[in-house]
Amino acid sequence: MSQPVIEIRNLNVGYGLGDQGVRAVRDVNLTLHRGEVLGLAGESGSGKSTLAYGMTRLLAPPGVITGGEVIYHPEQGDPYDVLSLSDSQLRKFRWNETAIVFQGAMNSLNPVHKIATQLTDVLKAHEPKMSETQRNARAREMLKLVGIAPDRMDAYPHQLSGGMRQRVMIGMALILQPQVVIMDEPTTALDVVMQRQILGQLIELRERLGFSVIFITHDLSLLVEFSNRIAIMYGGRIVEEAPASAIYRDALHPYSKGLLGSFPALKGPRRELTGIPGSPPDLKGMPSGCSFHPRCPKAFDPCGSEIPMLENRPDNRSVACWLVNS
Ligand code: SF4
Repeated sequence: MSQPVIEIRNLNVGYGLGDQGVRAVRDVNLTLHRGEVLGLAGESGSGKSTLAYGMTRLLAPPGVITGGEVIYHPEQGDPYDVLSLSDSQLRKFRWNETAIVFQGAMNSLNPVHKIATQLTDVLKAHEPKMSETQRNARAREMLKLVGIAPDRMDAYPHQLSGGMRQRVMIGMALILQPQVVIMDEPTTALDVVMQRQILGQLIELRERLGFSVIFITHDLSLLVEFSNRIAIMYGGRIVEEAPASAIYRDALHPYSKGLLGSFPALKGPRRELTGIPGSPPDLKGMPSGCSFHPRCPKAFDPCGSEIPMLENRPDNRSVACWLVNS
């Protein structure tokens, strides 16, 4: 496996403190390797986005990081903990080293500014030595790279389709050539054909430019298609992590199996969609033991009282389940 670019160690993130506080991300350990696409899946409320915003310190109050480290390995120089950076170091880290494409990003372009202004503003803020001509040239190049004719530089967001606006956002994330791009449900608002076009193009760009991707979605079928590895989250914890093909062929955790059974098979014979009974746990009243036990068809004795830890297996997978690890 290639070198790590980000190592998340024992990360804990919550909302609020004291009696009113809830733990949204619990003891997460996760490594993103150079050049890989790491998928993060789970239902709404499983902690995926909180993990992404926590690791980049983008969480707004009452979000609070209560423990852990996020070690970033730059291309040159020594690794450092993102959670210990000063505000000015953090500003440089964002965009230059790591960029995020947010949920509903296609609606987050400023409606009163042309695309050109919005792309070149990022360069103005982070590359002050660049001339205006250089900034415009880079912005045109980025638009071309994401499949938009550079003459759309003068368009306003409302003059572009949803898919084009999303491509502009991806171009903006890549404009400073970061090492890591975090995509948080980047194509949820688009139709299936457009989703696949955009994600296919992103993977092509990753092969050309060499960045790594953390791709967050509740749609496991997209991850199976576009990721190298997948981590499944439930109740703020990683419950299974494995190569994408292994999850698709033979998921081990009952929750991963439930997620897989919630969408039609990409290949092979048709199968009945089963879904997962019940709802994700309330963070304020997390079930004891394995937090999935009230919904798990396989729950047995220890599940309701003892928390299963994520255990590494010899086949390059990790699972947190008493059934698998006993
Ligand atoms: Fe189900 Fe028990 Fe495994 Fe949790 S630990 S997923 S309840 S079998």
